[in-house]
Amino acid sequence: MKTAAAHWSIGSSLGDMILTGVLPYGGPPADVLISDGKFVSFVSQDQARNPEAQVVDCQGLIMMPGFVDLHTHLREPGGEAAETISTGTRSATAGGYTDVFAMANTDPVTDSAERVRNLVALANLHGACRVHPVGALTKNLEGNESAPYAEMAAAGAHIFSDDGRCLDNANLTRQGLQAVAAFGGVLAQHAQSADLAGQGQINAGPAAQSTGIPAWLGVAEETIIARDAILAAETGAHLHVCHISTRRSADIVRWAKSQGWPVTAEVTPHHLLLSDELAALADTRYKVNPPLRSVDDVLALRAALLDGTIDAVATDHAPHTAETKARNWCDAPFGMTGLETALSVVAKVLEDAEHLDWNLVAAVMSEAPARIGGISEFAGRPLAVGEPASFCLIEDQQWTVTSENRYSKSDNNPFRGNSFRYKVVATALEGRLVHLANESR
Ligand SMILES: [Zn+2]
Repeated sequence: MKTAAAHWSIGSSLGDMILTGVLPYGGPPADVLISDGKFVSFVSQDQARNPEAQVVDCQGLIMMPGFVDLHTHLREPGGEAAETISTGTRSATAGGYTDVFAMANTDPVTDSAERVRNLVALANLHGACRVHPVGALTKNLEGNESAPYAEMAAAGAHIFSDDGRCLDNANLTRQGLQAVAAFGGVLAQHAQSADLAGQGQINAGPAAQSTGIPAWLGVAEETIIARDAILAAETGAHLHVCHISTRRSADIVRWAKSQGWPVTAEVTPHHLLLSDELAALADTRYKVNPPLRSVDDVLALRAALLDGTIDAVATDHAPHTAETKARNWCDAPFGMTGLETALSVVAKVLEDAEHLDWNLVAAVMSEAPARIGGISEFAGRPLAVGEPASFCLIEDQQWTVTSENRYSKSDNNPFRGNSFRYKVVATALEGRLVHLANESR
């Protein structure tokens, strides 16, 4: 990569290029020939086949398909103090992502075809990677009136969600499922019963007891997932459960899948690694929705990722300004940034579970999210001849998360100060370089 830096710069086309010594999916080394934005060959010592190609030494770098994030809060329009499409997508490419789904809870909310089109236009101007708008389920996320699903789908939305809020109303949820089923869309639920969550701010249990902060019950999430899974079975619509956080949530999804019900689920990197013992410190970096749960829940989520119950890892990248996160726990907003640390955390979690399988990483961070998001014709594609050269390169070298080495506009990353073994060092989208580590920001 030292050689690479001399030749590559952001935005440059990789042209005819041979990346030597890369490890596709962490496997045996290969020399990868790229031409016209596509993979041409993965053969060792291939240089003789194209003497014109530029040769870049990538010895020992793991090559993975570009990642797809089903759950990103880009904050634009309306929340530009915390993040913009420009900074958020740059943060995404630094994490190896080529595609992100932008949640609808902006200001204004993405709840009409016009707003979907506006977001697509903004992303075309300012996005460092591809941006896919998520349409709201209800007007202004108020949970009272359905948004115009079919019109938004025609404008480019495939996933519909009131994320940030739960669509508590069972009848509107059922109608939403029926509506998205008509065009093969997805209803993504942030499962949180308002009645049961109440004013909860921290996981129910020792963390709530020791801090005196209002307790947040796991059943607030679990009961909505059970209800919605039944509605998905009845309507035949694809239900996607956002950021599941408890053992029982995983059990419900596992059972629903065993019945053949059309349910998929995601988990965040932070819920796979962090527990409510950290939240008990009452440092607002650990305040997130759903809350960090018990160690037992963390272990259950890991098992559910390994056995395929959980389909995808999604970041729930939720930037907030330093000013708002500096408030006391109950007044600070929920959320953590996560795009730039997702791969490092997932690799650590799998390594801790003695199951670091790069094919599994590709499945949960690239293939499955692309499939759920309806973009697998061009994203989450395998590393194979004839496929688009959309990939990231990962270095096996210890690094530490700091406030300085970030691309997100916001600094509310819960892993700041932590060291990880693996780091994304370059990302390419259809043969164009969209991230290169250590290049000036
Ligand atoms: Zn959410």
